[in-house]
Amino acid sequence: MTAPTPYDVVVIGGGVTGAGIARDAALRGLRVALFEKEDYASGTSSKSSKLIHGGLRYLEQGEIGLVFESVSERRVQAQVAPHLVRPLVFLVPIYEGARVGLETMNIGLWIYDTLAMFRAPGLHRTHRGEKARELEPNLKHDGLRGAIEYFDCITDDARLVLENILDARAAGAHCRNYCEVISIERRRGRVTAVVVRDHQRGGEERVACHSVIVAAGPWTDQVAERLELGVAGPILRPTKGVHLVFRREVLPLERAITVISPIDGRVMFAIPWRNRLVLGTTDTDFHGSPDEVWADAADAEYLCASASKTFPGAQFRPADVIATWAGLRPLIHEEAAAASDVSREHQIYVRDDGVLIIAGGKLTTYRLMAKEAVRAAIRWLKDTDSDLFEDRQLGRPRTKNRPLPGAVGLDEPTTAAVRRHAARLAQELGVPLATAEHLADVYGTRARAVIERMRAAPELAEPMQSDLPYVWAEVAFAVEEELAQTIEDVLVRRVPLMLVGRDQGLDVAERTADMMAARLGWSPERRAADIDRYARAVADSRRFRS
Ligand code: FAD
Repeated sequence: MTAPTPYDVVVIGGGVTGAGIARDAALRGLRVALFEKEDYASGTSSKSSKLIHGGLRYLEQGEIGLVFESVSERRVQAQVAPHLVRPLVFLVPIYEGARVGLETMNIGLWIYDTLAMFRAPGLHRTHRGEKARELEPNLKHDGLRGAIEYFDCITDDARLVLENILDARAAGAHCRNYCEVISIERRRGRVTAVVVRDHQRGGEERVACHSVIVAAGPWTDQVAERLELGVAGPILRPTKGVHLVFRREVLPLERAITVISPIDGRVMFAIPWRNRLVLGTTDTDFHGSPDEVWADAADAEYLCASASKTFPGAQFRPADVIATWAGLRPLIHEEAAAASDVSREHQIYVRDDGVLIIAGGKLTTYRLMAKEAVRAAIRWLKDTDSDLFEDRQLGRPRTKNRPLPGAVGLDEPTTAAVRRHAARLAQELGVPLATAEHLADVYGTRARAVIERMRAAPELAEPMQSDLPYVWAEVAFAVEEELAQTIEDVLVRRVPLMLVGRDQGLDVAERTADMMAARLGWSPERRAADIDRYARAVADSRRFRS
């Protein structure tokens, strides 16, 4: 990478935190580079429950500030990316003898709605007795006192990251995936450069910079050690969270259900997501390597048993799981009693040498975390080098109102506008409405570019699997426009057949590889190695079976 001058900021990590930081920094006019050691969002940021939410259970923990911040941010996210962040109705069933009874839960949800200043996607509603049973016939009816409906939002976490990266690049940030920061250089106590290893092209390079922001999620302690930051004690206490994917027919839910596990009283969700049903999550302390995280048999059994007791008509069995994902929550280290009680708040550490570390937080509040981190970096840069911005005017990033790329050109920032856009695309470009709706839901206004590829090459209009809406043009788009470099990048985070597809997308890996080889100039060896790598990733996600 060649840069005319040292970067003001180098960001380590291309999860949602790092991507948000790169975008914020670039929009302010900072010279910024971001390095991600694997693919964007390949860490925790594609392994979440995919909720943009206030976090109802944080209310119970008394984290009012966090809930207020989160519900406000939920509204911002739904406006800047209505194709990616959409309202979802949740139902909480309340049983006799529940730790939080119907009345208390009702009061809690009034607080939740109030904190959102009554601008939630909708206000909560309480249903008692028979009405609650009718709302969700699959729920265990024994002892059901009532149920409360409330609204939160669901997203596609990996795409949220990707659209931040795309916008950061458009604003001038240099972002590169498969580039790992392996060391740091300092002169007279100040950071002067990082050394980056390129895992795709090979080789190492020195990248000059004035400051570094470590946004490495669960890898924070490892990066701190590697860069010799001299941090005393662990910054994080990571906990593992597992999700299981089932066919929708196993439990055809109309809305998401917030489940209190009958096994240990933990909060879990059953969520309809992308033609499938997702069950999650676990929350257990984790002491291994963040590079080796997967669902094990105990995780699958716990989730299946909890759900089967809650929905007796729908037996959940590990054998029926079609995919899993497992990630680590990068929680700030504190000695809490149980893993679920550890705070989700973030912290920013500013060091004298110009290295900042941001740790903790949530997907929901990434934009605010990014803003805070960039401001802290600018303060440090100004305090330590008053000449740095002498001939430059830094602006405000205005990320509260700036649409993410797929929302640019919508006639209003709502999901209804996304649907109207789909109808226009279908009519104008002559594709079936269902296809246009699927593409607009995923790509927003960028769907046009996918459809144009379908029109230019009819084979790209073919569905990838007959029971799912994905078309081959999406693979072409992922490689040509969305920075995908491996089959896994395509089939896990951009066109996620590994998570929702038949046989986890193994049957489309060969054709995906052919398309990538043609576009990226792969050798036959490289093509074969990438198919192997994909098969290994699928096998890892199936380890719970052994
Ligand atoms: P990551 O996404 O992990 O990104 C860090 C990146 O740094 C990684 O991609 C890694 O490869 C890279 N990296 C590490 N070392 C280096 C290096 N040396 N050089 C270059 N790159 C490096 N939040 C919500 O708001 N809603 C939810 O519903 C929700 N559900 C969750 C469910 C689970 C099971 C989990 C685990 C988390 C959930 N969260 C949720 C929290 C949220 O997902 C995380 O807080 C967030 O994704 C963390 O993002 P990050 O960018 O900090 O970390």
